[in-house]
Amino acid sequence: MSAGPAVERVDGHVALPTGRKVSIVGAGSVGVAIGVSLLAKNIADPLVLIDVDGNKALGEVQDMQHSSAFLQTQQIIGGNDYSLTEGSQICIVTAGARQKPGQSRTDMLEANIKIMKHIITELVKYSPDAIIIIVSNPVDVLTYAAWKISGLPLNQIFGSGTHLDSSRFQYFIGKLSGFPVHLIKAQILGEHGASCAPIWSGVSVAGHPIEKFGNLFTEENKKFVFEQVLQSVPELLRLKGYTSTAVGFAVADQVESILFNKSKAIPVSTLVKGFYGIEEDVFLSLPCLLGNSGISTVLPPDLNEHEKHLFKASADNMFKYQQEIDD
Ligand code: NAD
Repeated sequence: MSAGPAVERVDGHVALPTGRKVSIVGAGSVGVAIGVSLLAKNIADPLVLIDVDGNKALGEVQDMQHSSAFLQTQQIIGGNDYSLTEGSQICIVTAGARQKPGQSRTDMLEANIKIMKHIITELVKYSPDAIIIIVSNPVDVLTYAAWKISGLPLNQIFGSGTHLDSSRFQYFIGKLSGFPVHLIKAQILGEHGASCAPIWSGVSVAGHPIEKFGNLFTEENKKFVFEQVLQSVPELLRLKGYTSTAVGFAVADQVESILFNKSKAIPVSTLVKGFYGIEEDVFLSLPCLLGNSGISTVLPPDLNEHEKHLFKASADNMFKYQQEIDD
């Protein structure tokens, strides 16, 4: 296995964007949550909402427009016409078919790839320089598919990845330690899904490694925290039927880092070939610097042997899954 962490991929660059036009495809619970987060942060203008159901998009747009008195965004538009997205700096894809009763995971994936083909073709046609963020699930495989469909360079297309899982991880570590969540640095890498890898070796609380906290971070407590992260989605599905608010803020954080060239290191789904001995074209989350050109640099952290094993297992899992669509 190669010594992954020494490798760093620096991607290409696209022209610096001059505007802040952000388009969201999919006016469902996730698309709306991202839109509302962008409006609350006042970072996108115009904001465009596209859905195959044009009335749904229009309804959500009008509801947002009626908030204008409390916002600074001047233009909120939408419908089912992709020409509205023309000249976007960022396009976000949240559209997806929900799994139908009796439908297999592969059938659902095939349906979503068909949807993705249409959406990506339209987005690239109207905004060839836009950074594209894929949010629809399964996000890693769909980002790989979208990358292939688009023909875009790697800096220009990525998946929202484990930024959301990492924020959940930080929240539950905050609960365990009693420290405010903003003082917790912690990342989950790999798949956005069951095989994700909690990177305990990099966790710090108020700037201190977890070893400094006596016997708080026992194996049992660490297992408990990670279990809470994994259970977040089934628990939210049980309670409210979907997840939306946290992913809305996570994606808005990525958008902000791009539009304002903040170069924040954020775990997003990108090609991980060449890292930690991975030899296949697989998309998984690693920390990436996000700025005006999208991903400028991939920053694989030093992982311990156990974490490397988890990450590699995540890649193997993803590769098998991907082969279902490559065939
Ligand atoms: P939803 O059913 O509420 O909304 C999906 C929307 O997509 C619907 O409004 C539908 O009309 C639209 N749509 C379907 N096909 C389309 C097409 N061809 N073109 C344009 N729009 C189309 O679903 P949701 O709860 O908003 O979830 C959306 C996706 O986001 C799902 O795949 C979900 O699993 C995923 N998700 C991802 C994360 C993450 O962290 N990556 C988190 C939560 C949800």
